[in-house]
Amino acid sequence: MELDKMDENDWKYHGEGNKSLVVSHVQHSQVLRLLKYPTEDAEHAHQTSEQAFKHIQNIVEFSKNVMKPLLGETCVHHGEAVKLPLDFLRQLSLKVQQERPESRCDKVMDTFSGCALCLPNLTQLSACRLSDRGPQLCIEIKPKCGFLPSSQLIMKEVKRRVCRFCMHQHFKIANGKWKRMSRYCPLDLFSGNKQRMYLAIKHLLEEPQNNLKIFKNGELIYGCEEVASCQQDLDALACHLGPYFPPQDTDAPVNELIQAIVGALLDSPGCDHAGDHWRAPPVDGCTYCEGSPLPCELLQNGNHSLPKDCILHKILQAQMLDNLDIEGVYPLYKRVERYLEEFPKERGKLQIDGPYNEKFLEKLKNCPAEDDGSIEYPVGKVHQYRVSMTAKDCSILIALSPCGEDELLEPNLDLQAPKPRFTYSVSILDLDPKPYESISHQYKLDSKIVNYYLWNTQANQ
Ligand code: ATP
Ligand code: MG
Ligand code: MG
Repeated sequence: MELDKMDENDWKYHGEGNKSLVVSHVQHSQVLRLLKYPTEDAEHAHQTSEQAFKHIQNIVEFSKNVMKPLLGETCVHHGEAVKLPLDFLRQLSLKVQQERPESRCDKVMDTFSGCALCLPNLTQLSACRLSDRGPQLCIEIKPKCGFLPSSQLIMKEVKRRVCRFCMHQHFKIANGKWKRMSRYCPLDLFSGNKQRMYLAIKHLLEEPQNNLKIFKNGELIYGCEEVASCQQDLDALACHLGPYFPPQDTDAPVNELIQAIVGALLDSPGCDHAGDHWRAPPVDGCTYCEGSPLPCELLQNGNHSLPKDCILHKILQAQMLDNLDIEGVYPLYKRVERYLEEFPKERGKLQIDGPYNEKFLEKLKNCPAEDDGSIEYPVGKVHQYRVSMTAKDCSILIALSPCGEDELLEPNLDLQAPKPRFTYSVSILDLDPKPYESISHQYKLDSKIVNYYLWNTQANQ
């Protein structure tokens, strides 16, 4: 990327989340991820360019030094912080504005700091493969938390039976965030049971909310975030999928797609043993959620029996670093707060706000198993909780490309079943560190969601 020759016409709107807006290059397989801030939040506009650059570098370092060792070399792309001309950013912001969904326009793109994160475009297989292949299909799944907590410190018993995602649905519908309830349950996706996983993905397709998107050649073709969104059109999706499946299979292209996704999710991404040398403390909660619409007989199949090398297993392990639940972590957070009030200079040494380097990872791993009264225990637990929050919020990208029967494949990229053969690559994105302060917000949100769920389900009985 030649920084002095940046032209907004080379970039187009790609998508956005709550914290960042992403543009993709029209030719190269590259994206720029730009931070956003609330329209009324003038404070951020005063953030210096240096502070903004540091913030983005922190994101890079967290992905690289903390999440990558946990999730795997091959599937995490940390990217690099870049400085861009302000004029380019202002023009780009004007250009993309009309393409942004209205529900996201409460925030504006950062055009002041001149900083961004540059990443490979993961909706495409790596650029070299791209050129000699047919159409590219990419499925993005934001799986959310895949286990039920079993911490002794939980007071709200319902949390042991109904998962956070399913409870949160009730709250989101009540607040007008979504119009229709999703039937997706993360525990079904993380079950390792093919039938449950199949249905979990089917439910995502029926009501994608912000948990599923499909891109064709890098363009979003399915999954729309607008609150007032029309019913997602599965027939139109089936038409899009036509070219990917041999003619004899055309009656069920959506089913074929789901099977390809299940296959890619369960397949091991090569001999990558990330995170193997240390385990998250075991969480032995129930393996199905009472909020799932699946029949009982099916729910009891599969109990975290995911293959050890697969991407879902790695994500689940990182999520399970939260073994005390927010109800157990919040008092430890308060303990850290009190300690920092007394010894403010310790904040840096304890790496409360980074740097996210090897030492940080060590603190995470070496956290005492039991509360030994030291400051290392609550700090370690808070760090672990924050890492688990990142793993509960990340997205999985599965890029699929059909390959001819005669093509020689690298063995670990060959997806044998189902019939249409794909080369694929799986990656994980959105691995930002969650701020230390957000623990307090999480605590309040947790109790709001649980209380609303109890009130709503009891009121409707
Ligand atoms: P969230 O609200 O989920 O926390 P966020 O604001 O942190 O989101 P991202 O999830 O990183 O932002 O990016 C927003 C969207 O942009 C993603 O859902 C994905 O569709 C797209 N995107 C992000 N990074 C890439 C990438 N490297 N390649 C392709 N698409 C990407
Ligand atoms: Mg995201
Ligand atoms: Mg994010």
